[in-house]
Amino acid sequence: MKEIYPWNQTAWQQLQAQRQAGRLAHAYLFQGPSGIGKQDLADAFAASLLCQQPAADGTACGQCGACQQFEAGTHPDALSLVPEPGKTQIRIDPVRQLTARLGLKSHQGGFKVARIEGAHRLNTAAANSLLKTLEEPTDNTVLVLITDQPSRLLATIRSRCQGLRLVPPPAALARDWLAARVGEGDADLLLALADGAPLTALALAEGEHLTQRRAWFDQWQALIDGRQDAVAVAADWAGEAGTAPLEWMSQWLMDLIRLQQGETAIRNPDLLEPMQDMTEDMDPVTLHNLLEQVWQALRLAATPVNRQALIEDLLIAWTAAGRPRRRRKRA
Ligand SMILES: [Zn+2]
Repeated sequence: MKEIYPWNQTAWQQLQAQRQAGRLAHAYLFQGPSGIGKQDLADAFAASLLCQQPAADGTACGQCGACQQFEAGTHPDALSLVPEPGKTQIRIDPVRQLTARLGLKSHQGGFKVARIEGAHRLNTAAANSLLKTLEEPTDNTVLVLITDQPSRLLATIRSRCQGLRLVPPPAALARDWLAARVGEGDADLLLALADGAPLTALALAEGEHLTQRRAWFDQWQALIDGRQDAVAVAADWAGEAGTAPLEWMSQWLMDLIRLQQGETAIRNPDLLEPMQDMTEDMDPVTLHNLLEQVWQALRLAATPVNRQALIEDLLIAWTAAGRPRRRRKRA
């Protein structure tokens, strides 16, 4: 069964209190930053509504036929919509299929629950199609929209959902929770890198993410020191399946900007020393321009583009920004 994280307990109790009072909303909007368990909460809520013998606090039993079907992803009254891999939008066809199924009688005589992940990705036609269902909800139907970018949803959709705002846990709680899973050593660094989102921090701890990030940073530093070639590094980065090197680059640039502005609380505290050294010769306007360029590249990377050329342009610009630094180091 999905874990209900300690920091989401208040929201959970609020949902269960509404259920017990027979005052569930037809549609909810779970909103909050990524990495804090919005999806898990939505799953636990759906399982709780479908379970045939939920516990006193509302949690699904995990044993009954409904729970087993839910876990297997075969429960006929549990519907969910996720953005297709590699697609930036949720299109109208899957929304139509979902709303058609919501309009039918429940298979097991109870609730029908639909979860829409990344709801801000609904395109206009899909959003308008969903709006009809929100305006004329059928009995015992609960829709849960999930997003980390609520402002990108149509206002008419937002206004028809009951908003449930989820927030990252207080720092001490996040730290204790994470340290119990990854050990004391890296917990602080991981949480800083994840901007306080515990599940993002936990995901970073798994696999080779930290080692990989450090290797990319070393390449990035070598570029402005003139020890590496932008084209070669770009080929390496473009070979990555996702956009992780570019996302890290945007974080590093933001940290350089923070350091230039005299802030010392940065997202990459383990890189404080090399970054402080980098800021010395960096022109603030150049840094802002580079950051804009990375954001642009991240937007374009989701479309069919020549990734190699895109990243090359970026790293050539970054290498050029290191000219005053190289002059200083030679002097
Ligand atoms: Zn159950």
